[in-house]
Parts: sequence; C-alpha cells; structure tokens
Amino acid sequence: MYNRMQFDLITLFPEFFDSPLRYGVVSRALLRGAVTVRTHDLRGYTSDRHQTTDDRPYGGGEGMVMKIEPLYRALADIAGAPERTLRAGAPDPAHVVLLSAQGRLFDQAMARRLAGHRQLVLICGRYEGVDERVAEHLADEEISIGNFVLTGGELAAAVLLDAVARLLPGVLGDAQSALNESFSLPDSSAAAPLDCPHFTRPPEFNGWPVPPVLLQGDHQAIRDWRARAAWDKTRRLRPDLCPASPDE
Ligand code: SAM
Repeated sequence: MYNRMQFDLITLFPEFFDSPLRYGVVSRALLRGAVTVRTHDLRGYTSDRHQTTDDRPYGGGEGMVMKIEPLYRALADIAGAPERTLRAGAPDPAHVVLLSAQGRLFDQAMARRLAGHRQLVLICGRYEGVDERVAEHLADEEISIGNFVLTGGELAAAVLLDAVARLLPGVLGDAQSALNESFSLPDSSAAAPLDCPHFTRPPEFNGWPVPPVLLQGDHQAIRDWRARAAWDKTRRLRPDLCPASPDE
C-alpha cells in the first residue's frame, strides 16, 4: 500500500464533491496529505464550442449517451495513457474505474484491493450512461455500488472514495479500527462478518438499558458477549452472510 493515494474524478459536476470532501476522516486525510483529490470537468476536454459531452444513441431510443472522445482526452491527460492496454505496460499505472449500474458490486474486499493502487481515476457517468467503448477499451473495470440506478456516477464515486480512503495508512486514528469492523475478517474466520452492537452513556435511556455485561468490567465476558451479539445481529439482518447449517 502506498503512503499517499491520488484520486482523479472525471465528472460533469466538479462542485458536487465539495461537500463529501469537506468533512470528517476524508477531510483530515486530505489535510494530512494521505490522500489527494483532483476533480476534472469533462467539458474541459471537449473540442467544440458548445463543449458537447453527450449525443443521441445509435439505434434510437431514450436519452443521451456520454461520448468517448472527451473521456479519451481526459484519460490521456490524467492517467498517462487513455487505453487500458497502453497503461498496462507502465510501472504503477493509474487504475481507471467506470462507475456503472452494470458493474461488479462494490464491497469491502474490493475497497481493500483498490486501496493498493497509487492512483485511482473514477469516471462518473450521467444520462443513459457512457459509450460502451469506454468500458471495453479505456476503463480497467466497471464498478456498481448496488443493485439500483442512480442519476449519476458522482454519488457512487464519493462512496467508493470514502470507503477506500479510510483504509489508507494513517487515515484512521486507530489502526485497529479498520480491522475490527463489519466485513473486515476473512470468510474463513470464526467471527461474525458484521460488527457487534455498540453502546455508550447513559446506561439507561427511556427504560432501555445497555446490556449489563458491558458495564461490569469483565473483559473476557465482554469479548464473549460481543462475539455472540455480532452473530445474532448477522443472523437477524443478513442471513445471506451466515454459513449454511449442515442440514440445509
Ligand atoms: N442506463 C443505465 C442502466 O440502466 O444501467 C443507467 C444510467 S444512470 C441513469 C447514469 C450514470 O449513473 C451511470 O452511467 C453511472 O455512472 C451512474 N450510476 C447509476 N447507478 C449506479 C450504480 N448503482 N453504481 C455506480 N454508478 C451508477
């Protein structure tokens, strides 16, 4: 993992990212230089006076499709080379991600893998999507943040950036934080895939008490309770993450 990671966001709405980058862990990572983020206005890579970034779909149908030429120029400028095959030969090439509802589903393992790159370039689509030749020849991979359709890739890029940035060295105050949380353990682990429930003061609110074991200072009992509670919650909310029992 590199000590510093560069994110490049290609978008029609660069100001969209002002807010997600301004708060909490990500803003501190930016201040400390663990992460650098550059936004790139796709219109700056157009060559006509109308700054055209989209056009009607071949074959007819609804909506507009984002054109390949401005994205090609943007990647030549930002990623060193626009084409996946050209980047492949370079040492530490930029990794180019197209945000897309049709992509592979983003998860914590993918966030960990992406955190190993020196430079991540995120392409944010709009309208009906992006000319398919971008996925075929320019992007290294297509990633979806869930089985639903957003109006644009900016929210998805902000989600991906947040999940990756917090895994970088020195970004979370306590290095253990990223190790003891939901989805952080290997599938083979005996521990639950989801984090245990957390409580803080007051010990009782509105007649709802904190589990007494957490107040008694017996660290082994607390560890046992947390392990059990994590499994209970995983079974209740995410049975799909639980191993099948032998008789199923
Ligand atoms: N016509 C596309 C489809 O049905 O798959 C949807 C296009 S969507 C309205 C416009 C842009 O939003 C996409 O090009 C993509 O960049 C982004 N987007 C939408 N849903 C997404 C998701 N689940 N994950 C990542 N990006 C998404």
